[in-house]
Amino acid sequence: GELGVEQNGLVISHFGKQLDVEALDGDEAGRIIRCHMRTHLGQLVTGDRVIWRASPDGGVVVAVRPRHSQLQRPNNHGELKPVAANIDQIIITLAPEPRAHANLIDRYLIAAEISGIEPILLLNKTDLLNDLNRAWLEPLLALYQDIGYKILHASTTERQGLVELKATLDERISVFVGQSGVGKSSLVNTLLPGVDLRIGALSEQSGKGKHTTTTARLFHLPDGGDLIDSPGIREFALWHMSPDEVLEGFREFAPYVGHCRFRDCQHEREPGCALKQAIEEGNITEQRFLSYKMILNSVDEKL
Ligand code: GDP
Ligand code: ZN
Repeated sequence: GELGVEQNGLVISHFGKQLDVEALDGDEAGRIIRCHMRTHLGQLVTGDRVIWRASPDGGVVVAVRPRHSQLQRPNNHGELKPVAANIDQIIITLAPEPRAHANLIDRYLIAAEISGIEPILLLNKTDLLNDLNRAWLEPLLALYQDIGYKILHASTTERQGLVELKATLDERISVFVGQSGVGKSSLVNTLLPGVDLRIGALSEQSGKGKHTTTTARLFHLPDGGDLIDSPGIREFALWHMSPDEVLEGFREFAPYVGHCRFRDCQHEREPGCALKQAIEEGNITEQRFLSYKMILNSVDEKL
């Protein structure tokens, strides 16, 4: 059929071969159009910037702009598939309860670093801080601050820290990740009042009517910026990583990687190990090095 003129769009959600595209140009801006896509474009995902044209039954996506970042996860055949594109920052949420585990935080950091996305740490539930949990939380956060990561504080229930959080989210595309129970749903609900997040999970028509998927959905925040959210994305760091990626994920190791005396140095007991020397000189903490070893062992076992 007849196609309209080329227009800019933003993929809000994707369901198999169908996409919900938000029109970005002129009078149409803000309207959501159910689009098909040309097959040569590959899998387009939430967050993709596209060119689309109106068609009699909605729209057709005819081109996609290059991504500046992407989150990927393996499918049933072990092939990496994108699940969201153009995310600017990953907000790694932690809390006094359930107790934050440095090793899990490090996994989220690795996933962010290898995806080319800026990680930010957010301590939620500050209303639960006391002398006992400060004793382990403050050194933990100091460690990440020393490496150079930005750290925010918030209490969703007491509505503390939300102004700074909203300022951080403004003009960027963000996702919240973190272990179950730290308050991600509460935070998202607070930032998106009145939005039924389950709507994002309703998707394509099947023979049996609508069924739910865990597809990622993009939401505009009332005070600026966008959130991409789905149950799968909230736990993305638990997806597969290779040993090289684990190493790359420890940002402060970078100046020393490749400077060991032996090219195949395992950073164990070899002489001339640049990483070990960096620990001795206080440039890398023992804690992060042990965490690196632990994560490396866990990914090796899976291979
Ligand atoms: P999620 O699993 O990360 O999505 O966590 P939820 O948003 O479901 O929150 C888990 C529990 O923590 C719920 O009982 C929330 O009411 C509670 N919670 C969330 N934010 C806060 C907070 O800032 N302070 C306190 N004290 N509890 C909170
Ligand atoms: Zn070494």
